Amino acid sequence: MTFSASNAPSKTVLTIAGFDPSSGAGVTADLMVFAAHGLFGTSAITALTVQSTRGVSSTHPVAAEILSSSLRCLVEDLPPAGIKIGMLGTSAATLAVIDFLGEFRASHPEVPVVLDPVLRSSSGRELLDPEGVEILRTRLLPLVNWVTPNIEELAILSGRPVERREDVQAAAVSLQQIGQTTSGPIVVLATGGHLLPPDDLLLVAGSEPRWLSGEHIVSNSTHGTGCALSSALLSRLVLGDEPHAAAGAAKGYVAEAIRRAVPRGSGKGPLNLGWSLRAETS
Ligand code: PLP
Repeated sequence: MTFSASNAPSKTVLTIAGFDPSSGAGVTADLMVFAAHGLFGTSAITALTVQSTRGVSSTHPVAAEILSSSLRCLVEDLPPAGIKIGMLGTSAATLAVIDFLGEFRASHPEVPVVLDPVLRSSSGRELLDPEGVEILRTRLLPLVNWVTPNIEELAILSGRPVERREDVQAAAVSLQQIGQTTSGPIVVLATGGHLLPPDDLLLVAGSEPRWLSGEHIVSNSTHGTGCALSSALLSRLVLGDEPHAAAGAAKGYVAEAIRRAVPRGSGKGPLNLGWSLRAETS
């Protein structure tokens, strides 16, 4: 076996998301993605969930004061080179993240922030309350650089129906306008995992919209795909990729993680997020 070791400290990245005890989604999955990209991950938990591969049976918010103090405690000591936001759970958690980001962004405008606007689990459980959805749309979006909605999230956040591939671009443009910040428009990566073919639309201000082509992989190991994509995207941005390269690399990493997954559990199983870490044998 050969391991290549380096003493150079890897960059630190932060995930703000929910805890999935089955490790397919949420912070434990995000930390695996960061590790697979050679980054050091820290996490602030917004909510505990009770779930397995069979779906989410309940969600339990962490008190907003605990979330706020975790965020402040972490950034003072382990300042992140990038932040990913996933499941928020409640309007109180969303407001706590907005307070934190407002301050953090003022002093660290160069740090990329990727928002995966998790609204509902694939098993149908609400993962952000309705007041939280409105606050996310109007107050959190303008504080982030990237947003990675799936088709359902894109429709809800843009207020436009998105049923077919032809609907995606107009909705993504609307979302970009809602997310307009003082430092420019946000980048939208609309993920089309439920479209056929499962292509993603990338909208970067000043560039033509670009479809990133995806391959339909028949698999039951798809739990946490959105979490993995947004964490991989953040990782690539922190490693220095420009937007198109970062989105393409993240999509490729996730496709490979689905392809190399081994079945686990009796429902929708986790991806193989550590596929790139397998030690080479010699
Ligand atoms: N549970 C947690 C904690 C999550 O962060 C997410 C993220 O999307 C989910 C569940 C949903 O995963 P899925 O859409 O694969 O059900």
